[in-house]
Amino acid sequence: LRIGLRNGIIFRVSLAQRFYNRDLSTQNGRLEGKVALITGAASGIGKAAAAKFISNGAKVVIADIEHQLGKATVDELGPNATFIHCDVTKESDISDAVDFTISKHKQLDVMSNNAGVPCYSPPSIVDLDLAVFDRVMGINVRGVLAGIKHGFRVMIPRGTGSILCTSSVTGMMGGLAQHTYSVSKSAVIGIVKSMAAELCQHGIRINCISPFAVPTPFTLDEMSKIYPHIDSEQLVKMIHRFGVLGKATLEPSDVADAAVYLASDDAKYVSGHNLVVDGGFTSFKRLEFPSPDKAQ
Ligand code: NAD
Repeated sequence: LRIGLRNGIIFRVSLAQRFYNRDLSTQNGRLEGKVALITGAASGIGKAAAAKFISNGAKVVIADIEHQLGKATVDELGPNATFIHCDVTKESDISDAVDFTISKHKQLDVMSNNAGVPCYSPPSIVDLDLAVFDRVMGINVRGVLAGIKHGFRVMIPRGTGSILCTSSVTGMMGGLAQHTYSVSKSAVIGIVKSMAAELCQHGIRINCISPFAVPTPFTLDEMSKIYPHIDSEQLVKMIHRFGVLGKATLEPSDVADAAVYLASDDAKYVSGHNLVVDGGFTSFKRLEFPSPDKAQ
């Protein structure tokens, strides 16, 4: 009986260690030993993800078209960050960034296709500028596809890896942005689903993250075109007020937390998923009932 009890306790302790303690021990280093390549990480959401990845134990390669900004970001983030110049519209740049990561770190565990641009074309389809459409699709969609292609290429031999793509709530619902941008982000969600079918056969996961409006240079530039007389501090407050989750505000670090989760082994069985970070915005539409005296 004593042996049975002891064995039972040992069994339960080892079970607990396996399923619970693992989480506690990795809480501060959920990406320990991993190597990530993040496009568009010189600023905004990508930069916040790079910082969180590093604080969770990863080494990060920042691939961005903005050379000066990229170098400054790497200086800020410290020795576990490296910069490589990369224009995601050029397949050779992406291929080189992936090969650079392998030659420097010997492996690629996380490929985050995050680079993206907004679109300033007129709102009506009647005025759609197809040249602008092609340019935006070249970055937001073709750039993502090229990143998946080359990230996957080096992940196949190891049979493991996590690919992330940054979409948006504007790709899930119409009317939140201009057509070109919405279409590009909708395509990213479709790409992730289509690619998941192939990548899963090699043990490689692919997911996307769809944030609501986050104050970054991206949104602030766009807003300042509509409201040139309002300073950036006020614009940040305006962006925050679009949110629906009480007093909580969406920051780049919240999107970065979602990226850490999807990149980590905590999400080892999550693939083909669109992780929406919107405080519930796309889940409901609140009906505004008229007050009884105004009804009829
Ligand atoms: P940001 O402008 O701060 O960062 C975007 C980065 O992409 C910049 O560093 C920029 O230099 C880089 N970039 C642009 N074109 C590139 C190219 N051709 N090749 C390589 N790098 C390029 O913007 P952000 O808000 O951090 O946006 C990051 C991603 O998040 C984008 O895909 C955007 O569509 C998406 N997103 C943003 C929001 C938001 O509200 N900010 C919401 C949903 C989704």
